[in-house]
Amino acid sequence: MRLRIHRGTREIGGTCIELESEGARILLDLGLPLTASDLASTPLPNVDGLSTVSASLLGIVLSHGHRDHWGLVPKVNPAVPLIMGKATESIIRAAADFVPDAVALNARHYLEHRKPIQIGPFTVTPRLVDHSGFDAYAMEITSGGKRVFYSGDLRAHGRKRKLFGALISDPPRNIDLMLMEGSSLGRLSDDETFPSEEDLEETFVTRFEQTEGIALVACSAQNIDRVVTIYRAAKRAGRSLIIDAYAAEVLKATGRDSIPQPAPGWSNLAVYIPQRQRVQLKMKGIAALVDGYRGFRIWSEQLAERASRSVMLFRGWMMKDLDRANALAGARVIWSQWEGYLTEGAGATLKSECMDRGIAFESIHTSGHASPADLKRLAEAIAPNRLIPIHTFERERFPSLFKNVSLIDDGEWIEI
Ligand SMILES: [Zn+2]
Ligand SMILES: [Zn+2]
Repeated sequence: MRLRIHRGTREIGGTCIELESEGARILLDLGLPLTASDLASTPLPNVDGLSTVSASLLGIVLSHGHRDHWGLVPKVNPAVPLIMGKATESIIRAAADFVPDAVALNARHYLEHRKPIQIGPFTVTPRLVDHSGFDAYAMEITSGGKRVFYSGDLRAHGRKRKLFGALISDPPRNIDLMLMEGSSLGRLSDDETFPSEEDLEETFVTRFEQTEGIALVACSAQNIDRVVTIYRAAKRAGRSLIIDAYAAEVLKATGRDSIPQPAPGWSNLAVYIPQRQRVQLKMKGIAALVDGYRGFRIWSEQLAERASRSVMLFRGWMMKDLDRANALAGARVIWSQWEGYLTEGAGATLKSECMDRGIAFESIHTSGHASPADLKRLAEAIAPNRLIPIHTFERERFPSLFKNVSLIDDGEWIEI
């Protein structure tokens, strides 16, 4: 077996790994680079069978639903089979109705925790991991007596942290080569740790209690762990969480009734359809979606009166609706995603709008990626013969932190 990383030896984003064995090939991930301005002008990596037909390319395995891992798939010849988690497929499909230039993907096979699947000469054994993206997998790939382990994106301080503990206490054995993400290197010093989702929950409870009016939380609806954190904190603070149709559909698409959603049995939850979304649903011919939220709807004229008992999952453009409804007195905006998004675009606009209007603005967030200390625990547990950094801007730090590190280049074939 041999492999090459097309993108990711020196950057976060655009991850793509090609594996070859006995004349057959598979790809692990096919992400959009973070630097890509749009899909049309971003070329596919140089892999036979992506745009043309090649019988030796057996499929693309997607570790999870973040675009830096699947974003280039819409450009691929649709005959190439896709393999991903079932919830990943449903969430991407649900989001496609709401997110600009999004698409639905169709999986040929599903990844399931610890269930090996055979793809030609490759046996892929997925391990569900803790990550800010839902239904995310690390995976072991064996072929021709060799073993590769790919970490995907993962962390140890989220709501599914037990999975990280399980991976470390029962690691894949005899790994010849491990590809390990290093997103946190350079963002956090080696002995620092990230707050856990539980820590965040406590902070949110306090802040919701201190807020006079509506608490507006700007987070990705697809960060399911975070939505659960916010929901739990809202409930503890005696508030209801208001979501829009996009969040409602994403939460339903998880297929887990343990996740808050507009369904029987859930309290402290309401669905508000902002004006712009109402128009969008009509234009797309999917206005009937809202029938599924019966009993959970909240209307413009109720927003002001319920503001002090509400937390809203929010994006900057929803400010207009709240303004019209006179629901912004005593409001607070909480940014709950990467702070890098505040330097330009919609994030920067929202922040300056809050400043101008005297709306309190702060950030409450934790990383979707493992700290250096947790990565160390992972590398030590798996103890690969060779460890290659991926999904990192700081690969030079790997040799001082981990054993058996090799630094390679994008596009370089590595014999395993
Ligand atoms: Zn990710
Ligand atoms: Zn990623």
